[in-house]
Amino acid sequence: MRIILPALFLAMIQAQTPPAPPAAPDPVTTLVERLDLEKYKATSKGLTQFGDRRQGTDRNRAAVDWIEAQLKSYGCPTDRIKYVYDPPPAGGGRGRPNTGLAVGGGRPRGDKIPTGVNTDPMKQPDEKLRALNMQPTTPGPREMVYCTKVGTTHPEEMYIVGGHMDGHGWGEAANDDGSGTALVMELARVFNAPDVKTERTIRFALWNNEETGSQGARAYIAQRQDLQGKENPPGSGKYPEPKWLGMIQHDIMLFDHGMPLPDGTMRKEQRAEADVNIEFQSNSKMAAESMKLAWVFEAANEKYATDYPAAVGPHMTNTDSGPFIDIIPAISLRENERGVQIGNGWDPQWHQPTDVYATYNDKDFRLGLNAAQTTLGAVAGLTGATLNK
Ligand SMILES: [Zn+2]
Repeated sequence: MRIILPALFLAMIQAQTPPAPPAAPDPVTTLVERLDLEKYKATSKGLTQFGDRRQGTDRNRAAVDWIEAQLKSYGCPTDRIKYVYDPPPAGGGRGRPNTGLAVGGGRPRGDKIPTGVNTDPMKQPDEKLRALNMQPTTPGPREMVYCTKVGTTHPEEMYIVGGHMDGHGWGEAANDDGSGTALVMELARVFNAPDVKTERTIRFALWNNEETGSQGARAYIAQRQDLQGKENPPGSGKYPEPKWLGMIQHDIMLFDHGMPLPDGTMRKEQRAEADVNIEFQSNSKMAAESMKLAWVFEAANEKYATDYPAAVGPHMTNTDSGPFIDIIPAISLRENERGVQIGNGWDPQWHQPTDVYATYNDKDFRLGLNAAQTTLGAVAGLTGATLNK
């Protein structure tokens, strides 16, 4: 009896419980599965045909045109921001006060190797690439391109998903920031497929002039901040500048080979513990809201990224999300933390002639793809993405 009675009782309960219907597939999973390593690599490779894409050159302008043509081909309507960049005279560097801390406020540890921007053409051994990068930058008019997926029920609110398309250093700016630019373009492709709807608007922004101090992002804020949430023309249901709900920047996504070794060299392969670094800036007006947004992305990484985890840190700095930190929730995604890790030399290709497509292998590109999966999953959730049957 001791055995039979509970067994009978269990059988009765089971008989009363109908089997659960199969769960509807998560549409976000379907969207994330539309990202693809080979497509991500192909878009990255396409960007490297324009050399280092330095701002104020013909190769930079040609890259803006090429990016715009791709975005249009994905069905994402484009627009441009126009501004003028007149750099201050060189040599007036004030330098930072020596606090012992890295840019962004973090405390560096471990072995460090020097970093900097290469300005010597002869350090580029590939003669064809050297010739492609030869035209110098000149002051004057600049343009950057963005495209927009309009929300169905809340077209008046949007998230901005960004990366910077300019680079420097006499390479191909393949990682900094071809990798982030390609990520944003791939997300534009997936979100603008004909069967995808989002409740809220998403803007895909390819900033120019990041390397000179984010003048493209600053021009965007100066020209468009006051237009937010205004219906124009009145009664049209159109919002040329939806209210900004958050800004998510992607800047240098591929290379996490760990800290420099004591002899000043680097590991040859992506480290097994590689991660996507999601940063916000604790020293900003929107710190609490930005931190909350960062953890939404961490959760999306847990759910949707196939290979590499994410880590959240409070020292976001030196990228196009910076100009937004006191206005809206703003975060960045990177291969490493910008201040204490990249600043300590964790990426020896950074702004160097070696930042070319051929430097990276599939394990490197896969880290960028995992960042794309992270942002796609998070933004799909935040904007209420669904699939038409
Ligand atoms: Zn960058």
